[in-house]
Amino acid sequence: MARYSGPVCRLCRREGMKLFLKGERCHSEKCAIEKRNFPPGQHGKDKKPKVVGYGIQLREKQKARRYYGVLEGQFRNLFEKAVKQKGITGENMLGALERRLDNVIYRMGLSTSRAQGRQLVRHGHIQVNGAKVNIPSFTVKPGDVVEVRENSRNNVTILASRDATAHTPSPSWLDVDRDALRAKVLTQPKREELVQIQLNEQLIVELYSK
Ligand code: SF4
Repeated sequence: MARYSGPVCRLCRREGMKLFLKGERCHSEKCAIEKRNFPPGQHGKDKKPKVVGYGIQLREKQKARRYYGVLEGQFRNLFEKAVKQKGITGENMLGALERRLDNVIYRMGLSTSRAQGRQLVRHGHIQVNGAKVNIPSFTVKPGDVVEVRENSRNNVTILASRDATAHTPSPSWLDVDRDALRAKVLTQPKREELVQIQLNEQLIVELYSK
């Protein structure tokens, strides 16, 4: 279960927008997009080359992949599955990313970033329908109950994250009980509640369909 472990602010700088990969720092003045909003690397400050065609599609794909913290192989697999499903491929793909367990933990407000959500899952703090699940890519479905395991209910990281995200609204597809550190999945996520950055998923579909 590989993951990207390099510097993350440069990923935002490459995309020219905040991807919210670092929790509370992203909302502070320390954010690299606030301080250095130009591409990383030696030539980052040079005149921007014009991005067209394939380049635009590639940037949209990288943006979505980095936002959800998924590597290329896994992302491609999600696309292949989305193509076979009924409905709009791009939305199917984003819906599957949104229903990943690490993202659900983030949306429940139990972590301040998806990376932290992933770590909570990997460290065995989370259960789904009463059974421990330590696979961040586990996909939840309507009716599932996601909660913090009994032995982890006093985990300081989880409680601190819950307090830090107290004012962040929960998405309508999750019925979140913050006191109980639990959420029930009500429905499939709606498009307007998926990625909270500007993203045109149709460009990703076009890229992979070539
Ligand atoms: Fe870094 Fe977060 Fe700012 Fe991105 S949004 S540059 S991850 S601090």
